[in-house]
Amino acid sequence: MRNGNTPVLHLDVVKINTDSVKSPSISELLAEEQAVALPVLTTEHKFDTQWREGINKNADWAEAIHYDIRKPNFVIIHHTAQHSLAQTIRTFQLEHTKVSAHYVIGKDGRVVQMLNDYLRSWHAGRSKWGNVTDMNSVSLGIELDNNGREPFPEAQVNALMTLLDTLKTKYRIPFTNFLGHADVAPGRKNDPSTFFPWKRLAERGFGVWYDERNLVPPPNNFNYVDALRIIGYDVSNLNATIVAFKQKFIVTDVSKELTDYDRRVLYNLYRRYF
Ligand SMILES: [Zn+2]
Repeated sequence: MRNGNTPVLHLDVVKINTDSVKSPSISELLAEEQAVALPVLTTEHKFDTQWREGINKNADWAEAIHYDIRKPNFVIIHHTAQHSLAQTIRTFQLEHTKVSAHYVIGKDGRVVQMLNDYLRSWHAGRSKWGNVTDMNSVSLGIELDNNGREPFPEAQVNALMTLLDTLKTKYRIPFTNFLGHADVAPGRKNDPSTFFPWKRLAERGFGVWYDERNLVPPPNNFNYVDALRIIGYDVSNLNATIVAFKQKFIVTDVSKELTDYDRRVLYNLYRRYF
């Protein structure tokens, strides 16, 4: 990362807010409402009050002293489907778009951070992986400047891998938790496209890949739906899940059915990692 890309929000800044006793609680503000006009609670106000008092007002409150901020535990990779790094950044800064990402990487390998790693970016949308039903809450979003119909340049892939290396080490993210948007939102999203070099990433420890030299036929009782589910896929729309699986691992054929070859690949992945 460049020096100029320091995160917007530092943890110590947040901690200072928690110690503050000056701002009134929501109940205090509501009490004042009897006498004065209805107070306008800003987002910062609500955040500050929730931080100090918790959300459940029916419970007693005794402040814990041992805690920190939750770490990201997944990385989700996207392509922007836009035409330039500048256009992507502009999109993420428009009020009405309601989308964002932690990092955007240009075709030339330039990495721009747009959000502190500890904050919840709006990049995954409706999504599921394993039992996690809100990927935005647990993941970092990385957008690659790419229109979805072109290869990813070497400089961009190298910059991505350097960034992934840093994030994996810093937050101890398991290698199986490096995913594509299509993995967690099959049928709804298809990024990153079939041009994305998942095999190369897996060889560097980001994500999984199968052993091409050992593609044995699965046994007759192999349940491929269970295998997809155990890997992490949401199988509620099975056809869409198969397409997402094939887009990542088969690439040359993205039909809705698993061929004999596809089943061998799935069986290999399942045996190898899960
Ligand atoms: Zn996406």
